[in-house]
Amino acid sequence: MDITTLDLVKKYNFKFSKSLGQNFLVEDSVLRDIVAGAEVSAEDHVIEIGPGVGTLTRELLKRAKKVTAIELDSDLISILTKELGDNEKFTLIHKDALKVDFNDIIEDGESVKLVANLPYYVTTPIITGLLNKGYNFKSLTIMIQKEVAERINAEPRTKEYGALTLLVQYHCSTEIIRKVSPNCFIPRPKVDSIVIRLDKLPEPRVQVEDEKLFFRVIRESFNMRRKTLSNALKALKLPKETLDKAFEESDIDSRRRGETLSIEEFAALANSIYKLVQK
Ligand code: SAM
Repeated sequence: MDITTLDLVKKYNFKFSKSLGQNFLVEDSVLRDIVAGAEVSAEDHVIEIGPGVGTLTRELLKRAKKVTAIELDSDLISILTKELGDNEKFTLIHKDALKVDFNDIIEDGESVKLVANLPYYVTTPIITGLLNKGYNFKSLTIMIQKEVAERINAEPRTKEYGALTLLVQYHCSTEIIRKVSPNCFIPRPKVDSIVIRLDKLPEPRVQVEDEKLFFRVIRESFNMRRKTLSNALKALKLPKETLDKAFEESDIDSRRRGETLSIEEFAALANSIYKLVQK
């Protein structure tokens, strides 16, 4: 049997850091469900963010072609090197995952899957960074706070619906793998967790002329959630006539609030603005 998380924590007298979001998995069924949910196969290069003492990493190494793990904590780097350093399939990178250029890790033509029990304090910047930079991932199977999973899968006209929903839905389809209770970790986190898989769509969900503008329209629409679109989008600093015409052409009532627009409506509005500005 493999050495457990608890054994490793004791063996190295590891001291958990709250500020690094260190809640390690101690429940085998969750490990199995993450690996099965990620559909890791012998062709896959798996990238893991935050391997901790390597419990999930070990499971991934059994199935993947190779595993690259990115860890920030130097104490864990020395534990992982001792425990997994001899495995030829394993590469360890000592760095802040937010500062990694994943193109330096990914080789052309590889099937790349990201798998991680994410440190909760950086969940959203990690997801947005990975999606915004257009990396060639097939999927991201991640453990995240239940609240973030609800934001990702939110419907319009709910308080969870926002820029994160639209960014993920633009690039990915999503599948909830399972819920995870705080009892499955040491130390216990305060929140419930969800394992979710984000599968990169072959083409974005909606066709947009200018992605930057599309996401800017979304951002400004949600910046002041309670404002009407016509007020919120003043921040785009367009002539009033242009904005009015864009609402008219995309058939969107400017008195609506951003949180009521579907992704298709945001695309229509952004595309109308784009065409009018080009003229
Ligand atoms: N994978 C392990 C498990 O499932 O038991 C540990 C998961 S723990 C929730 C998060 C891990 O991310 C910790 O090992 C922590 O040190 C690491 N971490 C925190 N911030 C990081 C960052 N910015 N970049 C890379 N790793 C980070």
